[in-house]
Amino acid sequence: MGLHCVYVPMTPILDPDNDSTSLDGDDYDSPLTDLEDSTGSSGYSSLEETFSESSGSEYGGKTHNKKPPAKKRARVANVKALNTGVILATNGSGRKKKTLSLIITMPIDILFEIFGLLGPVDLLHLSRTTKAFRKVLLSNNAVSVWKAARVNRGGVPNCMPGMSEVEWANLLFGGSQCYVCGTKGIMRVDFGIRRRACTSCLKKNLVYKPNFSSTFPSLDPIIMDLTPFTNIGGWAHGHASGSKFFWSDDILKVAAQLGMYQKDVHMFKLGAKKRLEDFKQSRKRYVDSVFNHVAICDAWVNRDRKHRQSTATELRSQNKELIKTRLIRLGHDTNDVARMFNNRDYAIDKELTDARWKRLLPRIEHNLSELKEQWRLQDQRDASRLRKTHLQNMYDNYVRQLRRGPAPPFESFLERRDVVDFINSPPAMEPESDISACPAFADKFPEFCTGYVHQTKLALIQSLGSYSGISQDTLALQNQGINDPEEILLQLATSIFQCASSRSLPLITWEKVQYHKCHTYRLWPTTKVTCTFSISQSGILAARSLLRLVGLDVKTTAATTMDQLQHLFFCSNCPPKQENGGLYRMAMDWRRSVIHCVEQSHREPRWELLSAEQLRVIRGPHAPEYPKATDPVWYCNQCDRHNGKPVNKATVIDHIRWHGTAVPKQGVDFIYDMAPVELPPPGMKFFISPPQPSRPSAKPQPSTKPQPPNNDYRCIHCNRSQRRFILEGVKQHIKHKHKIGSPVEETDFCKIK
Ligand SMILES: [Zn+2]
Ligand SMILES: [Zn+2]
Ligand SMILES: [Zn+2]
Ligand SMILES: [Zn+2]
Ligand SMILES: [Zn+2]
Repeated sequence: MGLHCVYVPMTPILDPDNDSTSLDGDDYDSPLTDLEDSTGSSGYSSLEETFSESSGSEYGGKTHNKKPPAKKRARVANVKALNTGVILATNGSGRKKKTLSLIITMPIDILFEIFGLLGPVDLLHLSRTTKAFRKVLLSNNAVSVWKAARVNRGGVPNCMPGMSEVEWANLLFGGSQCYVCGTKGIMRVDFGIRRRACTSCLKKNLVYKPNFSSTFPSLDPIIMDLTPFTNIGGWAHGHASGSKFFWSDDILKVAAQLGMYQKDVHMFKLGAKKRLEDFKQSRKRYVDSVFNHVAICDAWVNRDRKHRQSTATELRSQNKELIKTRLIRLGHDTNDVARMFNNRDYAIDKELTDARWKRLLPRIEHNLSELKEQWRLQDQRDASRLRKTHLQNMYDNYVRQLRRGPAPPFESFLERRDVVDFINSPPAMEPESDISACPAFADKFPEFCTGYVHQTKLALIQSLGSYSGISQDTLALQNQGINDPEEILLQLATSIFQCASSRSLPLITWEKVQYHKCHTYRLWPTTKVTCTFSISQSGILAARSLLRLVGLDVKTTAATTMDQLQHLFFCSNCPPKQENGGLYRMAMDWRRSVIHCVEQSHREPRWELLSAEQLRVIRGPHAPEYPKATDPVWYCNQCDRHNGKPVNKATVIDHIRWHGTAVPKQGVDFIYDMAPVELPPPGMKFFISPPQPSRPSAKPQPSTKPQPPNNDYRCIHCNRSQRRFILEGVKQHIKHKHKIGSPVEETDFCKIK
């Protein structure tokens, strides 16, 4: 082929943001718009002018374009594809003109031989390139060339009746502009009206058959039988109906012709009646032939679309394999290349020529190197996350089986240098080996947790020392080194701590710190609360005042000593409360008193010790069980069966009987450890003036008879807990524990029936 080849720039085919194939209907190039629209309406109109001249049919492609014809330019820079490989020169190249004009000097037979190998799109392009080409291609001699082009393109149907080959090619392949307004991107040709028109122009110009008389009141309805029509209305979104729609200009043209024949008849011209009749008959035959041809054309359009889609798909997948092979041959890693093409498609549905490959390769390689970096980062993130999750699971499991705490938060384990290095180390080839080092780290959990406990202890001892002036040394002297002074210090009645997350609950002695667990919201079970401990100054003040009241040394008295004394106290800061016309005060053990003082934020703790007489009254039949038989705090004192696994009272008694002790004695055969029990029993109401009987029939209560508190409420947030509260108590509990300012019945707490 003698044409000078210049490669025109292609539309970008590498789209890193688009991983999917773009073969959907929307993106698909209509087979009927092959000619690039960028040729503009000017080129289009100039071509049409030519058609008008050469067209013998009044139904030819007459243009309504009012724009002046633009100067003719070679517009081939954006030619998408000249599938035959004929490449045209770019704009403004003097060499091109020379070359093309040389072609024109070829014998016409040879020229037509060459043209006969092209498709309609190529021919349309050529006809728009130079005057010489136009002249040749629009001549009557060229009809065979256009026919061959239709065959080359793949079974394009014969011309629409009344249309020339060139008009037909232009309608099908001349661009996607609306015939009326020039709007681009109109994919559908309506063969019934033989036009490509946009929806809004269709709406404006189509006349619905039943509206004919109202639209054209002066026209003869017979015109409808003489005019081609479509079954697809302007509002139908391309869907056919049983109705007929006419293009209004067509109607007017037929009307004009019919009018001429009718006029002759009215003027009694010779043979006019027959000519009128012949005209009508020929128009009807024409309408029928158009109607029949429309079906053929529509069928072809569908076939052609499917064919081109499957060809494109096939080409893409072929190209994909080709590109993969070539990349690997260039030394790229096979896995990388496979991964690159895993989720993405390069929309190359053209033949992968050497030139195209040359242009493509740098972009693909750039893409690949970017991807590799992304993958590296992603793989690192994945590996780190995997290791972290795995470690965390192991850690959580370890901590869960720890009976005593406090356990350090997992985050602080993650801060260890060796853990950081492990988490951030490059990913292994196999995911299993990524976590193979985890068990080695799990071996470090016990030491890590013990270290944390030790640190926490030391920190608390230090703040106790600086707050109270008590030091291990003074204690060591007093105990003459028999016990671990550190432990003794942490078990004093004045060793009172708090967790930053629940300050209102003082933790009396290290025991409570060990068993403390902050309650997490049930609604967000994943929320983890990290407990941080400090001394509770208000708790210490409360404990000190209690110790002084009973005459014990605030610096040496152990909490258990206070427990054994079993004193009860009234809070002098709280006035007696009214109930049923009587007045009562709450009698509380020392632990409850400390908690009360902190909860109520009494600035200056003041107490009243219950007298022996008052104690006798209150410890009547209603003496509270503490600890409760159901609390899992009981141990066998004869063996270490329950060490670390305390049970309820019934179980431990059964167990002692198994030892052979028929009547096990509390404190001798079995003991309890209250440390795991979070709260001491609530206070008891001690009536200082008797409540009035609510009903006349009820027996008056003795004034001093203690009332069991109405523990009729349960916290809904502590769902599993059996703990019962009085109304005020459950509200306080929810405020402090769950940080809900105004607790609501049925939502936050409920009454136990
Ligand atoms: Zn339009
Ligand atoms: Zn806590
Ligand atoms: Zn009080
Ligand atoms: Zn035992
Ligand atoms: Zn609760």
